[in-house]
Amino acid sequence: LFNKDLGQHILKNPLVAQGIVDKAYLRPTDTVLEIGPGTGNLTVKILEKCKKVVAVEMDPRLAAELQKRVHGTPDQKKLEIMIGDFMKAKLPYFDVCISNTPYQISSVLVFKLLEHRPVFRSSVLMFQREFALRLVAKPGDSLYCRLSVNVQLFAKVEHIMKVGKNNFRPPPQVESSVVRMEPRNPPPPVDFKEWDGLMRILFVRKNKTLSANFKTDSVMEMLETNYKTYCATHDMMMEDPLDMKAKVQGVLTKVGMAEERAAKMDQDDYLKLLAAFNEEGIHFC
Ligand code: SAM
Repeated sequence: LFNKDLGQHILKNPLVAQGIVDKAYLRPTDTVLEIGPGTGNLTVKILEKCKKVVAVEMDPRLAAELQKRVHGTPDQKKLEIMIGDFMKAKLPYFDVCISNTPYQISSVLVFKLLEHRPVFRSSVLMFQREFALRLVAKPGDSLYCRLSVNVQLFAKVEHIMKVGKNNFRPPPQVESSVVRMEPRNPPPPVDFKEWDGLMRILFVRKNKTLSANFKTDSVMEMLETNYKTYCATHDMMMEDPLDMKAKVQGVLTKVGMAEERAAKMDQDDYLKLLAAFNEEGIHFC
């Protein structure tokens, strides 16, 4: 029987499994990282198309079953199984990642992949439908959120298929979707902590104007503290008296974004805004 805590829902529809592997556009020279291979329904199809598979599986019982499944076949020596938690694992080199893992780890999994170096070529990942739609959401979409902009800063993400519950055994409670995520290479030269700090402010109320979002006491307090630290550590004279609210609103006006709303802005807008703040010594982390 399958272990519910480990989100074990085996993909039983071979057409869906083949679809996922086809959409990875594997090359015979590729090393593939598979996360959560389970009994290996995807693994055997991946092995046909590439040079090597490193599969990270947390459940030793399933790892043994997978080992048995390839035993005595020509694919046996192409498969390396790492038993353990993907979240804690030191990842090996890989060209492509394929994953159908429990949905609780979706967000951490995405960022762990995007932080990995060297940058990999592509990934095909199964997620809960709503998470997948958030990943691919564009400015103006109702699901456009901090996750969308943060992931799309580092990768191109595309929805490739919907997968209904009944393709799994046992069926999960939610619908699923498969996305392809291709990291931008080279990665954009952005300080992610700064970027994410700005996004946290913008997306608290994404439909409010930037001017309104930058007027709350908590935001003002944080920016003022950061600004003082920045001035102190960069030998900069601070305005006396310091009117942080006016300084921030001044930047918004200067870039013409005071009346804009995060929900409708794109990556270029955010980059421009971040640069304008930084130019004034205003920092978000
Ligand atoms: N990929 C298989 C398939 O499509 O049939 C199995 C999918 S099942 C939804 C998820 C698999 O991920 C299970 O085999 C589970 O044991 C494994 N798993 C869960 N958490 C994991 C983790 N943190 N690291 C590695 N594997 C994990």
